[in-house]
Amino acid sequence: MVNTKKVCDLCGLPVEVPGFTLKTKEGDKAFCCEGCKGIYQLLNEDQLLPDSNED
Ligand SMILES: [Zn+2]
Repeated sequence: MVNTKKVCDLCGLPVEVPGFTLKTKEGDKAFCCEGCKGIYQLLNEDQLLPDSNED
């Protein structure tokens, strides 16, 4: 069985809802929820690429 589903880049749970993503120097990251996305942002501020849709 091949599981191609994305997993959260913070906690490793399956990403059921698309949209919690960040662009970083290492590529696009996906998260399972807003909370995980927020924590990743705090921990990896220097890795984040600017998002033209925010700020
Ligand atoms: Zn998560």
